Amino acid sequence: MNKWEELDKKYIWHPFTQMKGWLKNPQLVIDHGDGVKLYDTDGKEYLDAISSLWVNIHGHRRKEINEAIIAELNKVEHSTLLGLINEPSAELAEKLVEVTPEGLNKVFYSDDGSTAVEAAIKIAFQYWNYAGHPEKKDFINLGDSYHGDTVGAVSVGNVEVFHKAYKPLLFSTHRVSCPSFYHTKMDVRSEKEFLDALLKELEDYLKEHASHTAAMIIEPLCQCAAGMLMQPKGYIKGVRDLTKKYNVLLIVDEVAVGFGRTGLMYACKHENVLPDMMCLSKGISAGYLPLGATLVTDEIYNAFLGEPTEYKTFYHGHSYTGNNLACAAGLASLRIFENDDVIAGLPPKMEMIRQHFERINAMEFVGDARQCGMLGGIELMRDKANKVPFDPGLLMAGGICQNARKYGLIIRNIGDVIVFMPPLCSTPVEIDEMLSRLTKSMEEIFDRVRNRNMDAFSDPCAF
Ligand SMILES: *Cc1c(COP(=O)(O)O)cnc(C)c1O
Repeated sequence: MNKWEELDKKYIWHPFTQMKGWLKNPQLVIDHGDGVKLYDTDGKEYLDAISSLWVNIHGHRRKEINEAIIAELNKVEHSTLLGLINEPSAELAEKLVEVTPEGLNKVFYSDDGSTAVEAAIKIAFQYWNYAGHPEKKDFINLGDSYHGDTVGAVSVGNVEVFHKAYKPLLFSTHRVSCPSFYHTKMDVRSEKEFLDALLKELEDYLKEHASHTAAMIIEPLCQCAAGMLMQPKGYIKGVRDLTKKYNVLLIVDEVAVGFGRTGLMYACKHENVLPDMMCLSKGISAGYLPLGATLVTDEIYNAFLGEPTEYKTFYHGHSYTGNNLACAAGLASLRIFENDDVIAGLPPKMEMIRQHFERINAMEFVGDARQCGMLGGIELMRDKANKVPFDPGLLMAGGICQNARKYGLIIRNIGDVIVFMPPLCSTPVEIDEMLSRLTKSMEEIFDRVRNRNMDAFSDPCAF
């Protein structure tokens, strides 16, 4: 055990981690990164197939971003947005408005995805007060939704394993069926029938309850933290049409799917959806520094305008809101998107993922390998035909991910779903290598299953 592992195990409580298993097993210490590669303190190389938990976009230690941060650092490290302006946050706001859907013209900065969602919830709630409809105060969310870990964000979430312990602490919401065809228990034969049933369910609810509903919040196209659950084509458009028709705000949480992950700059663009609010984080600073943003329409922003003693101010903010260095990283990242034409370069990368996933889908214990642009989820099943999962105690997917480190691959699972989310800068060759290494690990673990050597893996990186 090296010095850092000793210190870590003595002092650190890790996120989403069962510390008992963590302490018992050897752990990796990352020393440095370069492009899509990470290196541990022994000099061993790993491909970063989860973009350092979904944040990295243009690779590690990207020259242009490093330089932009250093240049800003030589001017000032942080200057508050409470009562003052700073240069990079102003320039980044202009760019964010440019690259997001039409109509989202104002940017409220915060620190991360959860706080971007918290701000959206409070803004939606207060907006209706100022718009003369204080009775519109409730929220609609999706089954298996995840919007962050602070208490408000957990209230609009409902991934059973993560959230059930906190129920008594949360405000209640109306939950509509999770829009994942593979997982639905609805009696539907096709994706089209499923889509119609989902939209009918939503409309039936809105007809009765829109009058007291402030907003609906969705993660568009792919519910990532719930296990890469993907939505039928037309779903987000249908949700937008209905929320508009019944006068309910639509908040899209693009914290995970934004900044090119779905193959376009933002997920809503696939169906030309114009939301009332958009939450951004993760890829916003290309994986460099914490930063969140909640974008809103002029109509929402204007509702908060008033005289000081009307007390319509949005009383919300964080110490590091609009941090100079994070915004400088965000600006540099958007410049790379432009200069390198990053989005236009994605199709051959997505095609490489598609080819591998087609093959992986045919593997014996793979129930469903699904892809949405640069996002992928591989869901394991003990009995593929009847969709019977493995005993969760076996920690199958976690074991595969842990075992993959041997082959130089960093990847993570959520339950029995292996999440594949490479940095957008990964070349087709690098993606090919990542998925080949993953396959090796899968085959090895699957062999153990076939040979009935199914001992639980002692500490997979499972949530
Ligand atoms: C990660 C995530 C969040 C929370 O972001 P943090 O930066 O971890 O607080 C919110 N929504 C979605 C969709 C996410 O994937």
